[in-house]
Amino acid sequence: MDLLEYQGKQLFGRHGLKVSPGRAVRTPEDAVAAAEELGYPVVVKAQVLIGGRGKAGGVKLAADAAQVREHAQNILGMDIRGHIVHTLWIERASEIAAEYYASVLLDRKAKKPLVMFSVEGGVEIEQVAAESPEKLVRHHVDALEGLSHEQAAAIAREGGADADLVEGVADALVALYAVWVQEDATLAEINPLIVTPDREVRALDAKVSLDGNALYRHPENQSLSDTDNEDPIERRASEQGIQYVKLDGDIGILGNGAGLVMSTLDVVAQAGGSPANFLDAGGGSDATKVKNAVELILANDAVKAVLFNIFGGITRGDEVARGLIAAFTDAPPPVPFVVRLDGTNDLEGRKLLTDAALANVYPAATMNEAAQKVVALAAGAHG
Ligand code: GDP
Ligand code: MN
Repeated sequence: MDLLEYQGKQLFGRHGLKVSPGRAVRTPEDAVAAAEELGYPVVVKAQVLIGGRGKAGGVKLAADAAQVREHAQNILGMDIRGHIVHTLWIERASEIAAEYYASVLLDRKAKKPLVMFSVEGGVEIEQVAAESPEKLVRHHVDALEGLSHEQAAAIAREGGADADLVEGVADALVALYAVWVQEDATLAEINPLIVTPDREVRALDAKVSLDGNALYRHPENQSLSDTDNEDPIERRASEQGIQYVKLDGDIGILGNGAGLVMSTLDVVAQAGGSPANFLDAGGGSDATKVKNAVELILANDAVKAVLFNIFGGITRGDEVARGLIAAFTDAPPPVPFVVRLDGTNDLEGRKLLTDAALANVYPAATMNEAAQKVVALAAGAHG
């Protein structure tokens, strides 16, 4: 779960990282009111889940109310590489003497937390890593021991921080590591970590991703998901306890069990088709869950045909068939459905489907046959 800059900064503040005061707003009027409260100059910053906002014109300094209003009007509604701006962060402007970089993430290969630091911040860190890798310090942390102040100071020195800033940078790194561990983050990044003319070290930007699977341990973070930019179908799915990920194709997919759904995506791709979603209805899918899943898949307008691939274990074939029948009695399928039922109670399930004689529903005996059929039907629907 990715956080907006201002939400990341709230977490930073909780762990003692220095950030500038600011307000999140959604209208030019509120932007001006926030600026008046904070005092000029301020920065008007687009809150979207993508970097490079500055280059795209989504970060502007404002010296007075008229400028705040003008920038707020321009930035609200702006499309930054596919991300529409609904929220602005109005922050007291900082004076910048230097821009550093700091991050903590999990190095999966090394199976250790990785702290990175560079005095070449403000630019794309990938560029620093590629062009002058010696300027990017990489330090693996022992997860059981954590990051000590001494280690953090050594990282700051190795990275070439000015001598008088080593303590300040070390404090920032230790706090950033605390954010990463204690909030169950997968990424905590500051770019730029600025140095002010009076030699204070402060986070000017925040990129934080939280581990969605650990969110139950942080009830106070649960409201941080960006509902403006979340896919509405994905949100509905998560409310119903269904694993759904939207994809770019036109063939709806439903299976039970992540592994089966993954291989269903593969066989559809092999048959020349393009999946519209990943949907795992989970084990023990009852009729209601199947009905909900069908509605989710069809909520995506791009879907031209659907493949139902159910292997009955805990999930019983007759329950799945009942769910399909319930779904299509309310609303007949607007697109062809190919159904492969196998495993527990598959015969009963298939018999229920045959007896119901649902229009636009096509049984298939094997996964490959089902994939070929659904790809042909989706292509036919193109006309
Ligand atoms: P990003 O472009 O999405 O990474 O957004 P940032 O928050 O990193 O801001 C981009 C750039 O805007 C920074 O690297 C700074 O150079 C500039 N900037 C942001 N806030 C301030 C500020 O308070 N004062 C000054 N002088 N520049 C700022
Ligand atoms: Mn940045």
